[in-house]
Amino acid sequence: MNKPLAITLILIISILIFSNPAFAAKKLSNISDKIFAYTDTQNASPSNSFGANAGIIVGQEGVVVVDTLATAKEAQEMIHDIRKITNKPIRYVVNTHTHFDHCFGNSEFAKEGAIIISHKNGKANLIKWGDKLIGIVKNMGMTDELLEGTTISYPSVTFNDRIQIDLGNIIVDLIYIAPNHSTDNIMVYIQKEKVLFTGDILFTNFHAYIGNADLDGWKKNLDYIIKLDVDKIIPGHGPLSGKQDISDMRDYLIAFDKHARELCSSSDDLEAIVTQMEKALPRKAQGNWMIRSSIQQKYLKSNK
Ligand SMILES: [Zn+2]
Repeated sequence: MNKPLAITLILIISILIFSNPAFAAKKLSNISDKIFAYTDTQNASPSNSFGANAGIIVGQEGVVVVDTLATAKEAQEMIHDIRKITNKPIRYVVNTHTHFDHCFGNSEFAKEGAIIISHKNGKANLIKWGDKLIGIVKNMGMTDELLEGTTISYPSVTFNDRIQIDLGNIIVDLIYIAPNHSTDNIMVYIQKEKVLFTGDILFTNFHAYIGNADLDGWKKNLDYIIKLDVDKIIPGHGPLSGKQDISDMRDYLIAFDKHARELCSSSDDLEAIVTQMEKALPRKAQGNWMIRSSIQQKYLKSNK
């Protein structure tokens, strides 16, 4: 191959690789000078924790990790990225909730000596399902290769309503309002920085999973956030968000419930219902598969 042709080919291949979001490397980006997060992962799939976000808070006394992604391998990459930012010890892991895409990386942080914290329902859910969960996620497209080295690591500290982590120069509040997207989803609030991690209380530009949701409780959580002194919100999935996204999420839940009830009261044809739901709901960039599983789990099952 002549040299100019080879160079052109390399250039074209590079453009193809780097312009395709599927190949875009995740990067911990600055939310404030002490807070960093992965947000807005494109082409959500089993190989990127289904687009779950995660983040870190760096204080005088060490690091708090918020969510650990879906596999040991992804958690190792996250630790690698954290080490580019700080050498401080990783003291705590907070699981916003114990859906696997947010907590299956726990074991890698436990190896680093981190104390894992969740709501008390989160630990109970993990214990109830235990290793069966690994089998369940394999049915969702998580291959043995992706899951290599992944083991469930249980929280050792749990709480009911509120707990505080003091990192010396920064306080991290963990707050539980009511059951919502799951029975255990908490929020992580850093008042000093006006930053909030919501876990899956908020999906932005991403269809929400509401298959085992408590919708009234979920709305209570969103109403609480609306009144909170916060500027930057890291959702469970999707881009860095703000209060408008919280209002939109509330409207989405109301719309989803209304349409799903109407459609499921006269039909149990899942495919037809999903098609109608896709037309009725606001358009979202990602997470269309969530509509199907939410309808299946919450609306068609409860009709039977
Ligand atoms: Zn979730």
